Amino acid sequence: MGLTDNIVVKDFMFCAEHGDEYCHKCCCDHRMGNNVRIEDELGDMSEFFEFEVEERQPINAYAHGAVVAVQTEESYECESHRKVDCEKCFDWVAIIKKEAETIEEEGRWPTARRSWTVGAVDVGVEA
Ligand SMILES: [Zn+2]
Ligand SMILES: [Zn+2]
Repeated sequence: MGLTDNIVVKDFMFCAEHGDEYCHKCCCDHRMGNNVRIEDELGDMSEFFEFEVEERQPINAYAHGAVVAVQTEESYECESHRKVDCEKCFDWVAIIKKEAETIEEEGRWPTARRSWTVGAVDVGVEA
């Protein structure tokens, strides 16, 4: 904790090297701290988070297009709009809410399983 460099993108903290909110390599898990930052905005969604809020799918800032802002070099902007803390690209609340909705539908946090299932359809021909 605190030994590695972190970056902050729209109030959320990620490891600087991988852009991960939860990173095995850097031994960091910023989800708890990040959750607190959007607590108010989540509001009515909090019911979903009572059980597994710390277990939500970690967000990767770089996967959402975060790049170092040229002017400041301390902030991060989005690749698409070149906007620091872009509300469209870094809408963590929306991302987490979407996840929560999926949980409500499936009764669990979404995993990579869905894409695996899609791949399995093609493979299934061999039987
Ligand atoms: Zn990392
Ligand atoms: Zn953007």
